[in-house]
Amino acid sequence: MKKIILQGILYDEKSSYLKGPALAPPKIRSLFMSPSANYFAENGREIAPEIFDDKGDFEIDTYFDIENLTFKNLKNSEHLLTLGGDHSITYPVIKAFNRIHGRVDVIHIDAHADLYDIFEGDKFSHACPFARIMEEKLINRLIQIGIRTLSMHQREQSKKYDVETIEMRHIHKATSLELKNPVYISLDMDVLDPAYAPGVSHHEPGGLSTRELLNIIQAINVPIFGADIVEYNPTRDINDITGMVCAKLIKELAAKMIENN
Ligand code: MN
Ligand code: MN
Repeated sequence: MKKIILQGILYDEKSSYLKGPALAPPKIRSLFMSPSANYFAENGREIAPEIFDDKGDFEIDTYFDIENLTFKNLKNSEHLLTLGGDHSITYPVIKAFNRIHGRVDVIHIDAHADLYDIFEGDKFSHACPFARIMEEKLINRLIQIGIRTLSMHQREQSKKYDVETIEMRHIHKATSLELKNPVYISLDMDVLDPAYAPGVSHHEPGGLSTRELLNIIQAINVPIFGADIVEYNPTRDINDITGMVCAKLIKELAAKMIENN
């Protein structure tokens, strides 16, 4: 398999509550390369930096630039790992992804459904990306996992777009997904309980443990074409706890991409 494209998006302009996720990509890279840990994923694969075709971190002038930038980075390749950034980046990234792979299935792991039609006057807020993705039919199937903040409006949106939801209160179902097609995984760090990942803008109690999140990823048994890790906010982190989780997730996601290829 070709190298996995790695890109960092330094962007948090669509965050509704706190800035900070724009600082995440270089922080995650440095923790990924920290001598405090080795490069081995739990399945035995070594995820050294050479596994990646690292395109670097990108400052973003205009939100819509993220699509063309991603398209350019991904062209002639297959697998993509993006470090955000707030969750708004997933819509333009999936738009670019769709131009190359067509309509894949998406596993969205988050405390929030991010399905608002509009949030605080902005249709591209980090609370809206999956409404845009579904209304433009950029993907086949949307499976949301870990959700624990559904408002009435978001329940309606979820029904309207045929979203398959495994709410946090039913989380035991998340390790037996019935998957047939290649997937893209969008991973919002606030799906984790704030006890495991304090470095996020929105602390939502009652979330996943790091172990439960890894079990969900490791149970995926179809090809993984792309993934993003978003909403890590280094300004809220304590002793790099959350940053080290992101670094481990790079290893686990990349190892799964290779294993399932
Ligand atoms: Mn989100
Ligand atoms: Mn979230």
